[in-house]
Amino acid sequence: MPQTEFPSETEIVIIGGGVIGCSVAFHLTQLGYRDVHLLERRELTCGTTWHAAGLIGQLRATSNMTKLSQYTSDLYRDLESISGYATGFKQNGSLSVATSEARWEELRRGSDMARNLGLACITLSPDHIEELNPQINIKDVVGGLFLPSDGQTNPIDTTRALAAAARQGGATIHEGVTVTSILKKDDVATGVKTSKGEIFAKKIVLCGGMWSRDLAASVGVTVPLHAAEHFYAVTEPIPGLPTNFPVLRDPDNCIYIKEDAGKLLIGAFEPIAKPWGHDGIPKDFSFDELPPDLDHFEPFLMKAMHRLPALENAGIHTWFNGPESFTPDDRYMLGEAPNLSNLFVATGFNSVGIQSAGGAGKVLAEWISKGEPPMDVWDVDIRRMHPFQQNKAYLYDRTIESLGLLYQMHWPHRQPETARGVRKSPLHDRLSQAGACFGTNTGWERPNWFAHKGQVAKYEYSYGRQNWFDNSRHEHMATRENVTLFDQTSFSKYRVEGPDARHS
Ligand SMILES: Cc1cc2nc3c(=O)[nH]c(=O)nc-3n(C[C@H](O)[C@H](O)[C@H](O)COP(=O)(O)OP(=O)(O)OC[C@H]3O[C@@H](n4cnc5c(N)ncnc54)[C@H](O)[C@@H]3O)c2cc1C
Repeated sequence: MPQTEFPSETEIVIIGGGVIGCSVAFHLTQLGYRDVHLLERRELTCGTTWHAAGLIGQLRATSNMTKLSQYTSDLYRDLESISGYATGFKQNGSLSVATSEARWEELRRGSDMARNLGLACITLSPDHIEELNPQINIKDVVGGLFLPSDGQTNPIDTTRALAAAARQGGATIHEGVTVTSILKKDDVATGVKTSKGEIFAKKIVLCGGMWSRDLAASVGVTVPLHAAEHFYAVTEPIPGLPTNFPVLRDPDNCIYIKEDAGKLLIGAFEPIAKPWGHDGIPKDFSFDELPPDLDHFEPFLMKAMHRLPALENAGIHTWFNGPESFTPDDRYMLGEAPNLSNLFVATGFNSVGIQSAGGAGKVLAEWISKGEPPMDVWDVDIRRMHPFQQNKAYLYDRTIESLGLLYQMHWPHRQPETARGVRKSPLHDRLSQAGACFGTNTGWERPNWFAHKGQVAKYEYSYGRQNWFDNSRHEHMATRENVTLFDQTSFSKYRVEGPDARHS
């Protein structure tokens, strides 16, 4: 390979050669940018990307996130012909099963959204699930949702294909170059200092995975994420396993199962996770694994055997444990840093980075090009984050919960249980005595409703009428017909300054 010339000045620098950095580079070249340099500490994919399970699901919590994942799936379908490199992408479908009426309701709501967005899906009775895959134990299954165009990919090959396509479009990729600091003048990012010298750049894009938090913090930018251990096991080869075995998700049991080159891979989103790298991510971490923890993982393997009894006779070939980044609200972070212009961020992918990379890369490239996001991506906009969330104890505590949330019930009004009580109003105790049921908003404990005398101030989550319906009615009527005093401590306040600012 020819020696790549190292620039001292460029239009765009991308930090990090995982799936996200490579997707951003590719999409920038699609917009006509040529002066794009991606800097990777070691080798492409060496952080988290190389060991991902590679599930490509498209149905997300909101319509915009679903559209972005649909785009990713379409891109991966075409990526081999775009780049000339095989990716391992296949659309073998995905099947999610419900073992409770509430989960069944959740799946059916998801199917309505999918249909509205033109994403093919079929709701299945237990008998139909058995027809689709006779290996599945349907005894405790209420129903299922099948998405035929979902699938899986090889994360390393897909990232290399994105990198190849980016190179073909004019981008330059430098491996073995570490960014040691971000350069700035006042509140504008101006470049990077690297192990090979300084590069001045008009825009800097931070796609440094779990390393991003500390690098951003060094220039006063809040990128709250914490790594957690993430587990899967791979069986020995299973004779006769069909290669079109759909990805199987059993969220009530916190597990997924996918076909992996004639073997099965069983992964878990356990409700109590193990945060990792609290004091920083080792600088030399590269294609590394963490020690397996069989006591932690075994209960989920047992649940997988219950769902797919064929696993009982399969030997385990690999116990895998690798780190991934999680954010306080389980959503990734995209966009320009609010307090450091020209520094863009795409990081904190909560175990959906492979399936999000296409859409996230496209949106960020357009954001960089136009100076504003091309669509409403407030769910993942970096500006929603607050400096207090940089607190490591807060991040550690929340990460214990956030990994598992992907497969927990996505109840309306669901409140996090960890890292609570971070910000309290001076009236907190009095509100509590008055029966407040608190929710959390930007870290504040906010009274969401007040319990009646004798009622426990606690959410009973439901897709139906809420247990606080009458409490809310009572408060509403009191406000309409009498006088109500609201504690506004947890609400945003804006200071309007300047010659034309005045009280009206
Ligand atoms: C066990 C497991 C299973 C998973 N399964 C799935 C799945 O099925 N589907 C899915 O969508 N996602 C899955 N994921 C998540 C997915 O792997 C990640 O979300 C994704 O790889 C994150 O990509 P990234 O580019 O942000 O991070 P990374 O891949 O970590 O890339 C960041 C890169 O930045 C480089 N870097 C850091 N600091 C610097 C610096 N200062 N200078 C230069 N370079 C730097 C690093 O070396 C690294 O290569 C899984 C994750 C795990 C751990």
